[in-house]
Amino acid sequence: MLTITPIPALDSNYFWVIRPSPNTQAVYVVDPGDATPVINYLTRNQLTLAAILITHRHRDHIQGIAGLLERWPVPVYGPDSELIPLITHKLGDGDSLKLEGIDFRIIGVPGHTWEHIAYFASPADNESSPLLFCGDALFAGGCGRRFDGTAEIMWNSLQKLAALPDDTKIYCAHEYTLANLTFAVAVEPDNEALCDRLEQVKHTRAQGGITLPSTILLEKRTNPFLRCQLSGIKIFIKHRTGETLETSDEVFGALRLIKDTWSN
Ligand SMILES: [Zn+2]
Repeated sequence: MLTITPIPALDSNYFWVIRPSPNTQAVYVVDPGDATPVINYLTRNQLTLAAILITHRHRDHIQGIAGLLERWPVPVYGPDSELIPLITHKLGDGDSLKLEGIDFRIIGVPGHTWEHIAYFASPADNESSPLLFCGDALFAGGCGRRFDGTAEIMWNSLQKLAALPDDTKIYCAHEYTLANLTFAVAVEPDNEALCDRLEQVKHTRAQGGITLPSTILLEKRTNPFLRCQLSGIKIFIKHRTGETLETSDEVFGALRLIKDTWSN
C-alpha cells in the first residue's frame, strides 16, 4: 500500500514523500524547497529518489531541485514555465502522468500563480483514498494568495478541486491551518463544523501535531474560500466593506483581499 510522509521544512512547508509500496525503496518528492532535509530523510530511511514533482514556481517549492539532482539525476515533472528551468517533463491541465505505482491526472489551477498545477490520483488498490497534491492553490481552511489572474480564474480553479471526490485526501504545502480557521470562524461564526474543526486543530497544534491531510468534504464544509456561493459569506463581505456582491467569484475576490490584510 502507498504511503505518504511529510518532511516539515523551512518556516511552514511540508515536502511530501510518496512511497508507492513497502516493497520499493524508490520514492517521489513533491515541492522540495530545500534539498538537505530531503537528503537527510531519504538517507536515514534507506530510500532513493525516483522523481521530483513540482506544483508552481515559488522558491520555497523549487529551491531544493538542484541539490537533489546532484545526488539523484531523476526526472523533474512540473508546469511549463521559464521560471522553473530545471523541469524536464512539462505538464498542463488534462495531462496524465504515469509513474511506477501511481497514476496522476494533472489539474491546472491558476490563480495563486498562473502556471500552478495540482496532481490528483485515484489509486486502484481500493485501500487508498484518492489523493491531491495541490501546493499553494488550496490550503486546509484557506487558499493561497492571488498573485496572478483574476478572482474569477482562481475561483474556477478552486471549483475544479471542490468537484473531486469527497474522500480525496488533500496534501497541501503549508501548515497554515490554525490561522486559516481562525479567520474562517470570523467569517462564518455560526458554522458548527468549522468551530469544531478549529478546536480540534488547536489541540493538534498544541501537541505539535500536523493538521494534514484534509479532505475535500471537510473543506467544502469549513473552508470559506470554497463556500463563496453561500449567503453567509456575502453578508460578511457586506458588513466588512459595505459592498453587495452577486457572483461567487466576486465574493471570492473580496474575501481573499480581506484575508490578505487580516491579523488574528
Ligand atoms: Zn506559492
